[in-house]
Amino acid sequence: MKVIKLEKKKLIPFLQFISQERELWAPVKKNDRIIYDLIEDFTCIDMNTTRTLLPPKKVIIPQQFNMFRVTGLGYESDYSHAVKKILFGIHPCDIHGLLILDKLFMQDHPDPYYIEARRNTLILGLSCWPDEHCFARSTNTHIIREGFDLFFTDLEHSYLVWVGSSAGDDLIKLKPEFFEQKPTDQDIQDFTYMQIERDTSYKTKINFISMPDLMELKYNETFWEKMGRACLGCGSCSMVCPTCNCYNVIDRHLISEETGERRRYWDSCTLCEYSEVAEGVNFRKNCADRLRLWYTHKMQAFISKYGKASCVGCGRCLLTCPVDINVLTVSKSLQGKDVYAYWNRLPREASDDKSSK
Ligand code: SF4
Ligand code: SF4
Repeated sequence: MKVIKLEKKKLIPFLQFISQERELWAPVKKNDRIIYDLIEDFTCIDMNTTRTLLPPKKVIIPQQFNMFRVTGLGYESDYSHAVKKILFGIHPCDIHGLLILDKLFMQDHPDPYYIEARRNTLILGLSCWPDEHCFARSTNTHIIREGFDLFFTDLEHSYLVWVGSSAGDDLIKLKPEFFEQKPTDQDIQDFTYMQIERDTSYKTKINFISMPDLMELKYNETFWEKMGRACLGCGSCSMVCPTCNCYNVIDRHLISEETGERRRYWDSCTLCEYSEVAEGVNFRKNCADRLRLWYTHKMQAFISKYGKASCVGCGRCLLTCPVDINVLTVSKSLQGKDVYAYWNRLPREASDDKSSK
């Protein structure tokens, strides 16, 4: 893979130039939250954020979009969500998240709506630094060697730029004068030191190797019921997770009219309605059962099928769940460790009425 170099002051002009014919999405601060947004003012791009509120899956597959319209004459597919985009500032763990979605939506069950959007989106990754909630080193997703067109590694005054695809190379060729073709020995030394320092900065660690066995051995432990009593069934854990991929569809059709549309929107197996079938029967009405399913998928089933967890260590669920149900507290419970979490402190009587949402 070719590695070249870009002075920091040339990054924004480069992004401006390459986004003349594509939307550019990048992290920006909005109302005290960092989100991926369509960029109009390039000075607003946040180059230093650790994570965005929602993962980059929202740029490929929006939270809701139209799949097709029904007209009096037939169906019209709608791919308006899949316009040409550049996704800049995506960190290694989130690129790993997209690679997991690729397996599901491009290989196992080809999904034209995902495939079209993914093919039209160029991925420009950016290196990052862990905070106390990141554990990407434990999932081995803190480094990335595929799944991007360009990847920018932040050295103090410049970026080393990994060219990961011919589409990435074409972007470079639009402004070759911006780049130095060969990093210096000092750049390589700085990169080596940066990697060592970054890799020792991860404070949160989870041993995923033992998780499939522990999920099996502790399937009926009482802590699941405890979590189930505290869980609000809000679905936020799935919304923020870069690898969660469930969706539902809804038809909008007026009986009096010949036209209608089918909309697709993100769904979550932690929502009670997710498991509801005909006649209102719900085969996973108990919240604890839904949580067990979520974690079985992340920490056991996906590992059995693909050899790695369906968790990329981004830390979003640690920051999002209002009652502290997350990969860290669940893995600690599975390992029999003390867990300081809201769900573990909640008195039983205060939560009994929530046991079956
Ligand atoms: S399970 Fe939590 S830490 Fe893991 S990828 Fe999903 S949101 Fe991130
Ligand atoms: S585990 Fe937390 S974030 Fe997920 S549905 Fe329950 S309360 Fe909401």
